[in-house]
Amino acid sequence: MSTEKMEFQTEVRDLLNLMIHSLYSNKEIFLRELVSNAADALDKRRFLSVSNAALLAVGTTLKIDIAVNTEGKIITIEDNGIGMNREDLISNLGTIARSGTKNFIKSLKENEQANVDLIGQFGVGFYSVFMVARKVEVLTMKAGESQGYLWTSAGTGDFEITEAPKQEVGTKITIYLKDDEESLEFANEWQIKSVIQKYSEFISYGIFFHPEPTKNDKGELEIQEPKRLNDKPALWRQSEKEVTEEQYKEFYSVVAHEGSEPAAWNHSHAEGSMEFWSLVYIPSKAPFNIWNNERAHGLKLYVKKVFIMDDCKELLPTWLRFVRGVVDSEDLPLNVSREILQSNKIITNIRKHVIKKVLDSLQQMADKDVEKYTEWWRELGAVLKEGFYMNWEHLDELKKLLRFRSTKTEGTGLISLSEYVSRMPETQKEIYYLIGDRKEGIDSNPLLEAFRSKGYEVLLMTDPIDEFMMSSLTEFSEKKFHDISRGDVDFEKTEDEKKAEESSKSEFKGLCEALQKTLDTDIKEVRISSRLKESPCCLVTSEDAMSSRMERMMEAMGQGKMEKSKRILEINPTHPICEMLKAKIDKAEDLEDWPKALYGQALLAEGSPLPNPSEYVQAINKLLARLAK
Ligand code: ADP
Repeated sequence: MSTEKMEFQTEVRDLLNLMIHSLYSNKEIFLRELVSNAADALDKRRFLSVSNAALLAVGTTLKIDIAVNTEGKIITIEDNGIGMNREDLISNLGTIARSGTKNFIKSLKENEQANVDLIGQFGVGFYSVFMVARKVEVLTMKAGESQGYLWTSAGTGDFEITEAPKQEVGTKITIYLKDDEESLEFANEWQIKSVIQKYSEFISYGIFFHPEPTKNDKGELEIQEPKRLNDKPALWRQSEKEVTEEQYKEFYSVVAHEGSEPAAWNHSHAEGSMEFWSLVYIPSKAPFNIWNNERAHGLKLYVKKVFIMDDCKELLPTWLRFVRGVVDSEDLPLNVSREILQSNKIITNIRKHVIKKVLDSLQQMADKDVEKYTEWWRELGAVLKEGFYMNWEHLDELKKLLRFRSTKTEGTGLISLSEYVSRMPETQKEIYYLIGDRKEGIDSNPLLEAFRSKGYEVLLMTDPIDEFMMSSLTEFSEKKFHDISRGDVDFEKTEDEKKAEESSKSEFKGLCEALQKTLDTDIKEVRISSRLKESPCCLVTSEDAMSSRMERMMEAMGQGKMEKSKRILEINPTHPICEMLKAKIDKAEDLEDWPKALYGQALLAEGSPLPNPSEYVQAINKLLARLAK
């Protein structure tokens, strides 16, 4: 056969034209494309040889060999995969535009300003080599045949095919690099190795780099041993039974760059309408950047074992951003872009699957090892809590995973909601909770006094996120949540208690009015409390108002100065200070600095900042000075 010259199909020509003049910055992807084509060809040969043993002689190792000739500016990539005959070459590398190419060209035409980023978005595969090549040769022989062919093209209008001797089945691609600086970067052993290691680390066939021969002392050329570039198995593609615990842990340190051990992991393989593997790890320690604005999402995305991207945001909700691991899809195209991922059905399905697996693993850990889970919760529970105000889908699973400190937990112990409900006294109807700024202090908040004396447990929350979380958490196990700093508490009272309360109300009416008058700018109402036992007073928020903590948070988040909602001051009629003040009112005496002092006390007792500390100190000093007289 003499050399045949053929024209590229029009669409292919348009595409090549773009490649040749491309300004696309990510030129290295041509190596990823060629190596993954080689790996596909190896897969095909192995697969076909199962039914036709003659296609693969016993003892043949399927592999990929790469070499660089720096001086000659040449790269070669060789595989002993299925190979191509004349017809294959024409249809695969010449005339038939694949669907990816068609879409690519279509977008280009729609978008006159040829956006070079488009290259990354479409399946342009083999042709991407023309971003760096002035000429490409494909020497190939198909398995089961004995004639080799050489395909040659400069990527312009046409290509040539000629018969050519080839000893072994497979394909050898020779790339003659362009003379520009960017293309010549690839005439370099180090560069090739680093790109291969980045994208093709887990390809299951050996990828060998053949260093250039070196001259010895006598000036003779010495052949160097080839070096294997990828020696890690794609652990996630193995069955769970084949992988040891040690291997799982070792792989975690590779994917998560983490020295500590993972708290748990889940390995799964989904088959059916779509096929993918996932190996996800739950760290035991919070990753260092977990609270950064530019926070990393830990899953790596692979397609057919080829690395696509780190931190694939589309695979995880932000409230699971601590998860690390790998997802490998068999169905996505290699050149899938972030834009495509956002609205991709395959990704949506994988994401659902991953979320379920992570939540299941956490629940299993919680069921199996309370101590371990409690420790995990301390590290990362606050991130999980974000799940409550960012989605409505997984609330039931998330509620079961919540842990809290409470007025009855001891030391570092935490309680789950179902434990809380199971130990509620019969008379208790709601789940009580209190949110505070700091761990210290919240325990001695006066609001807790009556609950303690009644034997009612109160959940204590001090994470900044708690306020937001509780706005979506309304009930658990048919019990409503009740913020004890809000509104009134409806304790079941005995007849005697009711009578005592009624009489205090009328006896203390004058004091309440007098306090209200002086504190009017800050306080909406002063009333008798049924929740105080030891303290003289406390502040509560009315049912419909925004809490003062939320107001401060909104301000801190740049929402501008919030108009403060006035709060309610409750006083304890059995406390000596209140009795003394009532006596003053009865005798028509002035309350002097007492209202300011009481209000300041109430703020301090709940851990809130004083709006005017010096005014408070002056008030206290005056009262103390009077005692000293
Ligand atoms: P894709 O790999 O996405 O199909 P490419 O443009 O990269 O697109 O390749 C086109 C076709 O050329 C492949 O589908 C394959 O049939 C063939 N091909 C490319 N490289 C090789 C190779 N190394 N060995 C055998 N066939 C190959």
